[in-house]
Amino acid sequence: MTTESNDRVHATGSCNCGAVKFEVTQALDSVFLCHCSICRKSTGSGGIAVTVVPNEEIKITQGHAHITQWRKPGHDWLTNFCDCCGSPLPGENDAQHQCIPVGLLDSGAEQLEVKHHLFSDSKAPWERISGPGKIHPGEYTP
Ligand SMILES: [Zn+2]
Ligand SMILES: [Zn+2]
Repeated sequence: MTTESNDRVHATGSCNCGAVKFEVTQALDSVFLCHCSICRKSTGSGGIAVTVVPNEEIKITQGHAHITQWRKPGHDWLTNFCDCCGSPLPGENDAQHQCIPVGLLDSGAEQLEVKHHLFSDSKAPWERISGPGKIHPGEYTP
């Protein structure tokens, strides 16, 4: 590597304990709320709120050694999490994109809006989906 990235940092984030930190070099605008049963288990809550960026727009700046990955057997689903505090961390969305749990953001979240609700058919029985965002019964379809 002979070139240094001059990309402007638009957002920063960190896990609960601060061991893992990252920077995002594109402006963030869209939140995807996934209500599927796997994301509910993973967070112990109603699901997870993420934004998605191209691989080259996010950089882990600290704490690589704390990032642990787990794949759900038999499913196309994985999570990265901090092995110190358990926070979900940015991880692979598909080959070209990373998904970032938006609760990790320390800056750059101001323009985010909920754009899509995913897997509404498998949401928790107690949850009422309201507010903005297109509702998808299953996975995201543009
Ligand atoms: Zn942590
Ligand atoms: Zn999910």
